[in-house]
Amino acid sequence: MLRSHGLRVTPQRLAVAALILPKPMHVTARMVYQTLRETHPAISMNTIYLTLGQFESSGLLQRFEINGTTVFDSNTAAHDHACCSRCKAIIDLSPQQQESPQQPHALARWHIDREQRIWSGLCPNCAKQ
Ligand SMILES: [Zn+2]
Ligand SMILES: [Zn+2]
Repeated sequence: MLRSHGLRVTPQRLAVAALILPKPMHVTARMVYQTLRETHPAISMNTIYLTLGQFESSGLLQRFEINGTTVFDSNTAAHDHACCSRCKAIIDLSPQQQESPQQPHALARWHIDREQRIWSGLCPNCAKQ
């Protein structure tokens, strides 16, 4: 998979890929670092940042921001997110669940190729408490 995306295979890239690419998930660089540090004590936060950035440029991940935190997403299809402001859970909203977005009037002459919304609030669990 790395090679088909033009990336040379290194032990660090393999470790990051094995952690986040097999199934759709949302991670921050810090989460990846804390998980891999146990099995790869030599890995640095900087390497994780670089690797995630390379994966993003190669189309293996997409990136978005929630409350100033960069989140990397191994689901690269276009989709919206909902984020719980209490437990920080992030869920994917598949395109079928979205209302088709109205292009704002001010963008009438733009060619929009990406539109992504982040819904925030309390998830059902947190809302119960
Ligand atoms: Zn919650
Ligand atoms: Zn997502």
